[in-house]
Amino acid sequence: MKKKESTQVCPLCGGHKQPGRTTFSADIGEGVVVVRNVKATICSQCGEEWIDNPTAQELETVVADARQKRLQVEVTTF
Ligand SMILES: [Zn+2]
Repeated sequence: MKKKESTQVCPLCGGHKQPGRTTFSADIGEGVVVVRNVKATICSQCGEEWIDNPTAQELETVVADARQKRLQVEVTTF
């Protein structure tokens, strides 16, 4: 039986990655997109953040939508 790692280790500093929330922002040239309360994995030691694939795809949709609407500022909460 394989031992399963219960905690993920940060590849940058060796700290522990924990589930958390972050604020994502993207510069779309004419404006800025801000998405609050984004699910992320955050290193408790260095603060590096990882956003998983499904969430990243949702963010891409939000960014594409804001770009299409030519918004200056788009603030969304997940
Ligand atoms: Zn770290």
